[in-house]
Amino acid sequence: MPDDAAHPGDPAHPGAGPTSGTAPTPDAPTPDAPASDAPASGAPDSGVPDPGDEPEPRDAPTPDAPGSRGLDLPWAEGTFPPGTVAGRRHVWDALMGLALHEATHALASDDVPVGALVVGPDGQLLGVGRNRREETGDPTAHAEVLALRQAAATVGEWRLEGCTLVVTLEPCVMCAGALVLARVQRLVLGAWDPKAGATGSVWDLVRDQRANHAVEVVGGVREDECGRLLRDFFAAQR
Ligand code: ZN
Repeated sequence: MPDDAAHPGDPAHPGAGPTSGTAPTPDAPTPDAPASDAPASGAPDSGVPDPGDEPEPRDAPTPDAPGSRGLDLPWAEGTFPPGTVAGRRHVWDALMGLALHEATHALASDDVPVGALVVGPDGQLLGVGRNRREETGDPTAHAEVLALRQAAATVGEWRLEGCTLVVTLEPCVMCAGALVLARVQRLVLGAWDPKAGATGSVWDLVRDQRANHAVEVVGGVREDECGRLLRDFFAAQR
């Protein structure tokens, strides 16, 4: 499974040129397609020296909605998230599927497979990230941080009010802090982390009354799949 993770247009190589928004499988309307390719073209680690050129994902096909940015997802029309419990569960499950897909790409660099994404208040995909600590040698290159950075770049400011961050593993202390600082409204997580989780397990930084912002937490979404991906990874390490 991890073999196909080495995608050529990877933003890890800034010199590889702008991936011209060509989805490899146009005939596959599965939600996997947009997460892995389209938003990754503006990855946060693509360097900062060129503020003038091509600021945003130009393949965002939403000219009709002024001011709206990001990639439309199939459920982004109308009310997001849905008002019913079943409707929400469907959306969280689908979004977690995108995060799981992103997580598998971390295997190519022998990084712990954690994937994250940020959707805006209207359900648009604003940012995607996966754990790249080994790949980049950056201790802060966690999936959540990278997804938040890309989302902030997409919307053009650091406040991500009304946004939802979806991640396959409960955030650590750093990432939980980043969620609060970014004013993220909601966290949807897959597997809990009883050893280092900071959103309910070991600590609960996102609902600390001393903070000036609280984050709604939806936990255990596709927990088995998210946990299995990690267990398989660590089992193979031994
Ligand atoms: Zn983290």
